[in-house]
Amino acid sequence: MTVTVTPQGLWATTGASVQLAPLPTGDISAEVAIIGGGFTGLSAALHLAEQGVDVVVLEAEAPGWGASGRNGGQVIAGLKLDPREMTAAFGRDRGQALHRMGAATADLVYSLIERYQIRCEAHRDGWLQAAHSQPVLKSIAARVTDLQAQGEDVEYLDQDRLAALTGTTYYRGAMLDRRCGTVQPLSYARGLAAAATASGARLIHDTRVHKLTRNGTFWHLQTNRQEVRARQVLIATNAYLGDLYPALKTAMIPIESIQIATDPLPADLDRKVLPSRLPVSDMMDLGVYLRRDDEGRFIIGGRGSLTGTAGSKLFDELARSATLLYPALKPSDFTSRWGGRLALTRDHLPRLVTLEGGLHAAYGCNGRGVALMTMMGKLAADRLRGIAQDELPVATLPPKYYPLHGLRLPAMMAVQRFQRLRRAFARG
Ligand SMILES: Cc1cc2nc3c(=O)[nH]c(=O)nc-3n(C[C@H](O)[C@H](O)[C@H](O)COP(=O)(O)OP(=O)(O)OC[C@H]3O[C@@H](n4cnc5c(N)ncnc54)[C@H](O)[C@@H]3O)c2cc1C
Repeated sequence: MTVTVTPQGLWATTGASVQLAPLPTGDISAEVAIIGGGFTGLSAALHLAEQGVDVVVLEAEAPGWGASGRNGGQVIAGLKLDPREMTAAFGRDRGQALHRMGAATADLVYSLIERYQIRCEAHRDGWLQAAHSQPVLKSIAARVTDLQAQGEDVEYLDQDRLAALTGTTYYRGAMLDRRCGTVQPLSYARGLAAAATASGARLIHDTRVHKLTRNGTFWHLQTNRQEVRARQVLIATNAYLGDLYPALKTAMIPIESIQIATDPLPADLDRKVLPSRLPVSDMMDLGVYLRRDDEGRFIIGGRGSLTGTAGSKLFDELARSATLLYPALKPSDFTSRWGGRLALTRDHLPRLVTLEGGLHAAYGCNGRGVALMTMMGKLAADRLRGIAQDELPVATLPPKYYPLHGLRLPAMMAVQRFQRLRRAFARG
């Protein structure tokens, strides 16, 4: 068996092709410069270009090279916090505004796919959030009630109905959220890039921004190729920020998530392994997420190494989780593996912030970036077009920095090691 390991793994094999414009020579001026060509940057560029704004995207590698081209492709509506939690934290009006924004994220993705005819294996048949333990099941049932009270199209499924859809009896119940679905993430990112370019945005690949300096009303961006001058800048690098703007580093924790995929499953396994092809996220037990693709592969993802260097042990552990759910699968069925980085924030909510005059940043997907960061890109475009921060649904979310940021990662690593040990003992 050959295991293929590339940055975007399976998605690079099945992804739509991408056309990159020839690299420009000489310095560049634009009204807006966006750093990072993932969902956030590309969505911002598209929405700005649609409004006739002169915008350039600077991407260190290629569109979708970061988390956007590597993720599970689960298009999940909503934020990590439930409506009642947001109302309790921010008051009725602001809490409701955040809820409505979160609820609209998947609509935005599917409307862009429709409007720009993006070919990305798009499906919208629902998403299952599954629970293994009774306490988690209780919290899922409460979430269903809360979301139904807001008029959202969600439903509680008991173990039997869930097992019929998933082919596993491992979980005790789930929420079926019909607002959600799946895409081939790299194809979606490349489709957004094509849509932004067709709308007038300039997309410059292989161009890493090293330094940002302000001179009067302009920002000067030093890259490995040329200097770029812009009145406004959006940092859309999320967990791949690196050392570009050190103060922003302490507002998020970058963590790794990894995935493995089989070849297209033969007929007998096709009927046993996730037969409904609905995507599933496991809430707080194995910490895995699963799906199928259009050619019938089975794909499972889970926690990677907190240092971003997942070794074969973690991939093997993920394959073991897959066989726990589906004993008909074998670890050797998984023929590709890959991983990427995503950014956590302290309160699990995303951010759109103004760091200095004309310098903005959007970040913090907390594992839900396909739909959410597409929306954050649109909101960033609104902000860059001059809409006041206060009028945006994310208005009440100033940056929240992690105190003792440097100690967070070692502490999280210790907790992760403990959880792994506990699971290993529990499985015997
Ligand atoms: C393995 C994995 C699985 C996931 N699964 C899901 C899922 O199923 N559903 C879901 O909703 N979310 C999922 N996520 C989260 C989701 O992928 C991210 O939230 C989302 O892609 C973030 O998009 P982004 O554009 O903000 O950042 P990214 O896509 O990470 O893009 C940042 C870009 O910035 C560029 N860059 C960085 N520094 C510079 C610089 N100095 N100059 C120029 N360019 C620079 C990078 O090259 C990169 O392309 C997953 C994430 C991972 C890693």
